[in-house]
Amino acid sequence: MGRSLEVAVAPSCISSGYCRNSAPDVFGQGPDRRSTVTSNPVAESESLWEAMEGCPVEAISAKDTVTGDVVFPEE
Ligand code: SF4
Repeated sequence: MGRSLEVAVAPSCISSGYCRNSAPDVFGQGPDRRSTVTSNPVAESESLWEAMEGCPVEAISAKDTVTGDVVFPEE
């Protein structure tokens, strides 16, 4: 925890709303109803992890802004 992450939502988002409910400070809804990240970079948090792990179509990804490493999805 404590990392600064660049979070992205892929076009495969089906707008389930799970991420917006889990981490409303991170995810919003775009004009096409898919989720968007309201402001990058994002401070790593439990609610962000809940959103990433709970996405039903695995549309959310995150990179460490310092190292460039892919933080999610995990290998
Ligand atoms: S949890 Fe996944 S499918 Fe649901 S709104 Fe968020 S990105 Fe889209």
